[in-house]
Amino acid sequence: MARDLPTAKLLRECGYHSDAAQAAGRAALEAAGITREGKERIAEWKRPDAVATLKARVTLLCEACRLAGLGGGHPTAIIAGAGDRCVICEGSATRRGALILIRACQRARFHRVIFVGGNPDVHRELPLLMGNDLDVRIVDGMTSRPGRDVQREIDGCDVVVLLGSTEISHTVSATWAGPKTVATQSRGISAFLLEAAEKIDARAGRAGL
Ligand SMILES: [Zn+2]
Repeated sequence: MARDLPTAKLLRECGYHSDAAQAAGRAALEAAGITREGKERIAEWKRPDAVATLKARVTLLCEACRLAGLGGGHPTAIIAGAGDRCVICEGSATRRGALILIRACQRARFHRVIFVGGNPDVHRELPLLMGNDLDVRIVDGMTSRPGRDVQREIDGCDVVVLLGSTEISHTVSATWAGPKTVATQSRGISAFLLEAAEKIDARAGRAGL
């Protein structure tokens, strides 16, 4: 006999945990003729088709992404519940924070962003989070440099984000202070990304962008 598995299990494996998400996923599989109403199990060989169908026909969007206005490209999205895999942030507050900051920078027409401060984890994570959407440079917060070198870098960028709650010396933050600088105080990567986004949004708003 061909191997099969409960449809509910397959749906969970695809990130559909809540009742609403399971119902939406099942409806999509039924509409595509991959399963039919009342059938509890699905043949294992149908898995690739089922996964492709779910991807194409159902969009789960978490409440946080919806509230942040990140789901604009998905007008028919289903609101994801606990444990559901959101199509935008995949359940990661850090990823959501990064997307919100990228959007704020795009709105403000900022492309070259310098982050000052942060520990080695932050230094590793930030460029990955920002992807190719922004030109990101990270500056160590503990190494002082001559003012004219710093000024040259400030001249070449659109915005400087100071990570005030992380490893950053007073001398370094003073050299980078200026009209292009956005100072954040929040602890934790998702929190300072959101704070920077909010401040950049406010600045873009004042500039009428
Ligand atoms: Zn989300």
